[in-house]
Amino acid sequence: MMLQHDVIIVGGGLAGCRAAVEISRTNPSLNVAVVAKSHPIRSHSVAAQGGMAASLKNVDPEDSWEAHAFDTVKGSDYLADQDAVAILTQEAPDVVIDLEHLGVLFSRLTDGRIAQRAFGGHSHNRTCYAADKTGHAILHELVNNLRRYGVQIYEEWYVMRLILEDGQAKGLVMFHIVDGKIEVVRAKAVMFATGGYGRVYNTTSNDYASTGDGLAMTAIAGLPLEDMEFVQFHPTGLYPVGVLISEAVRGEGAYLINAEGDRFMANYAPSRMELAPRDITSRAIAYEIRAGRGINPDGSAGGQFVYLDLRHLGKEKIMSRVPFCWEEAHRLVGVDAVTQPMPVRPTIHYCMGGIPVNTNGQVRSSADNLVDGFFAAGETSCVSVHGANRLGSNSLLECVVYGKRTGASIARYVHNRKLPSVDEQRYIAEAKQQIQSLLEQPGKYRINQIRQEFQDTMTQYCGVFRTEELMREGLQKLAELQQQYPQIYLDDKGNCWNTELVEALELQSLMLVGQTILASALNRQESRGAHFREDFQQRDDGNLLKHTMAYYSPTGIDIQYMPVVINMFEAKERKY
Ligand SMILES: Cc1cc2nc3c(=O)[nH]c(=O)nc-3n(C[C@H](O)[C@H](O)[C@H](O)COP(=O)(O)OP(=O)(O)OC[C@H]3O[C@@H](n4cnc5c(N)ncnc54)[C@H](O)[C@@H]3O)c2cc1C
Repeated sequence: MMLQHDVIIVGGGLAGCRAAVEISRTNPSLNVAVVAKSHPIRSHSVAAQGGMAASLKNVDPEDSWEAHAFDTVKGSDYLADQDAVAILTQEAPDVVIDLEHLGVLFSRLTDGRIAQRAFGGHSHNRTCYAADKTGHAILHELVNNLRRYGVQIYEEWYVMRLILEDGQAKGLVMFHIVDGKIEVVRAKAVMFATGGYGRVYNTTSNDYASTGDGLAMTAIAGLPLEDMEFVQFHPTGLYPVGVLISEAVRGEGAYLINAEGDRFMANYAPSRMELAPRDITSRAIAYEIRAGRGINPDGSAGGQFVYLDLRHLGKEKIMSRVPFCWEEAHRLVGVDAVTQPMPVRPTIHYCMGGIPVNTNGQVRSSADNLVDGFFAAGETSCVSVHGANRLGSNSLLECVVYGKRTGASIARYVHNRKLPSVDEQRYIAEAKQQIQSLLEQPGKYRINQIRQEFQDTMTQYCGVFRTEELMREGLQKLAELQQQYPQIYLDDKGNCWNTELVEALELQSLMLVGQTILASALNRQESRGAHFREDFQQRDDGNLLKHTMAYYSPTGIDIQYMPVVINMFEAKERKY
């Protein structure tokens, strides 16, 4: 018999788990399932380090949700939807307290209240944290709570298709990585919480599983993707590996230093220095490197990284506040941050864009229409609280606030609804066909080879600095790589743990997402937030204070635009 649930959620990270908990709390009689291609506890959320913002006022009594909202909108370069930001920042203190009640152990002040630290772009100390392992602390408790609420978990199942018929989501097709079994699941509501796409680029802080599958499945189903040109570079990826050194390190007072020994942020954001927003700080590092003030491994000028210097913080502070960052640098590049500066450079970190949703998490099919039965939250979605640039510690917050809201709205949506009818045999046959042809095709290319070329192409042609000429060339190169896809060759023809097959499907997601990023970026002839055009260096509010909606089809990508919700703060020049 076909598998069926009232609600099926794809993604076991913070957004998916928080939604599942909320659905079960709202209506315990609903049958809820969560699918993940790894174990939920291995979702990328577990790697989040620095913390989660909320104006609890434990450290800074002057803080308020309005101040948090303003910082978020200014950080977004005014592209965020302000109704969504108001919800995010107003609900923040409550969701933090609620997480604590679910069992999350936050770091404390000496009087026992939840501690809060400084973070880039935030005007008050408002980031709550669990040392530098905040995601780990939160995700473990949420997954425990799934068990408590009786949510069914499908772990190591790869979802390969969204079933969307007549404007309604009806279920999905997935296969079990363990034994290759294909199943169709029908449901009254489908939710995507599939995370980001960092693996589109060759150097990223993200997990191997961050391949944008949810985005690709949504686009293939004919639905738009919003604001995909806004790709966040985190300023401090450890050189050369790219893994993240949390912004918490700068929040605790670390300096950025160039080859001349200068704290160069004085020239880019004098009032915020190292705690400027990420787009500005990443560009500053890229300029320093381009101007020959980067550093080489032997300490000379002209190299590919700058220094992140923690030495003045002292051993005790380093080991109590950011012990994991110390350990990463020590283990991966042999640097003892107590006595030596860390080599860092920008690394791909976060996608501001995604599946467009309203503030109840329901997916949009256009600026004015919604899809029945289809919801999304977390990094894969775009309710647009981050606009053109996300502030650090606002993403975990978004996952929890909008995971919860989306869960509540799903519980309302499925009430009194019937399960849709789905032609199981047809979907199974099509999925078998797709997998069979991947296994049998007599190709000449290795997955790894095409993926590496693709990732290098995206990094080179759609990185920190963009121009029309570069991006046109990038699209051309990408089209050539896409033509090679049907000629990839798999060594493993088996059913059992065929990770090569998973990688082949993921490569398809990556390339589709990359194409959407390039096409959206090419069309936006201005510089805003993380999207910097050397040929259009100014922000153009007159023409482009609006969201991109990119519609994929096999013949190309059609770009339309959608208005921004502005009801609190008028767009102003952005200076720090
Ligand atoms: C190293 C690092 C540190 C960070 N630190 C912070 C921080 O301190 N503060 C902050 O606010 N943000 C931080 N972020 C960002 C934040 O962690 C993420 O944006 C957020 O955790 C994303 O959560 P999510 O629930 O949307 O997705 P994820 O946690 O990425 O989960 C995605 C889920 O979808 C599943 N999935 C995907 N595709 C499929 C498929 N095809 N089939 C089945 N399952 C699938 C995966 O298995 C996984 O369970 C950090 C990010 C990184 C990479």
